[in-house]
Amino acid sequence: MKFGSIEAGGTKFVCAIGDETGKITESITMPTRTPAETIPEVIEFFKKEKIDALGIGSFGPIDVNQTSPTYGRILNTPKLAWQNYPFLQVIEEELKIPVGFTTDVNTAALAESTYGAAKGLNSCLYITIGTGIGAGAIVNGQLLQGISHPEMGHIIVRRHPEDHFDGFCPFHHDCLEGLAAGPAIEKRWGKKGFELADDKKVWEMEAYYIAQALVQYITIIMPEKIIIGGGVAKQAHLFPLIRQKVKELLNGYFTQPQFNEQIDDYIVPVGLDGDAGIIGGFVLAARTIAKKD
Ligand code: ADP
Ligand code: ZN
Repeated sequence: MKFGSIEAGGTKFVCAIGDETGKITESITMPTRTPAETIPEVIEFFKKEKIDALGIGSFGPIDVNQTSPTYGRILNTPKLAWQNYPFLQVIEEELKIPVGFTTDVNTAALAESTYGAAKGLNSCLYITIGTGIGAGAIVNGQLLQGISHPEMGHIIVRRHPEDHFDGFCPFHHDCLEGLAAGPAIEKRWGKKGFELADDKKVWEMEAYYIAQALVQYITIIMPEKIIIGGGVAKQAHLFPLIRQKVKELLNGYFTQPQFNEQIDDYIVPVGLDGDAGIIGGFVLAARTIAKKD
């Protein structure tokens, strides 16, 4: 079968064609402008190809609840031109094929669990630490979702005793995203993350926050693998710091090897590099067809 995938980000849109093996055969990248400027280009790309189904992984917040009257819309994003935009509906009407719709972190989680670092497992958690922080979880082979998709970047964390930065989340100030996403690092230390690679204090504080988040996710979800992606996770030396702090916080409570001697293989970088979001769109497309048949 031939699948389409849209990775809709706040700064760029990636559209691709692929198959059920996760192989990308063609792709284009375009800047995210208003829907009126961006979507016709997207439609044009896919109309040229005879695809069987399509999966969309979108920036959020979005309505993923299939029983909701606003299902498939982008909700209260700071990108005003996209607020309430009926993304799914427009694509479905134009292409007239089954279309799956979820968050960008959910498609990345789907790809990593099908082809990447969590291949063969029934559960995993994918977290991105980039311009924002978000996570998608797969539990019993299904994306975790209730009233809406999870918003795991906005959990409340204990403050580092030496951190005097207010936090930049417009809603909560010092939630996890407000204290630990890429822009928080830049605002707190006055330089971008990659320029601070050698500053131990920066990464000790970053790991302090990320480890707390992972402990919350572990205790609630118990995923079989935790995969960390996003620009900030390119700092490879963060991983041992995070694992160490997770161990400290769990303090021996869990005796399973994943939380102890096998932790290096439990909290890991992405397996699919930058392509998880787009490949996950193919997985979502295949799942959408399977549900409709
Ligand atoms: P987005 O979240 O917009 O999809 P990224 O995942 O690349 O994009 O995240 C961008 C953020 O990650 C920025 O705040 C940037 O400063 C930070 N970042 C990107 N590359 C690195 C790096 N190598 N080291 C540390 N921080 C980085
Ligand atoms: Zn927040």
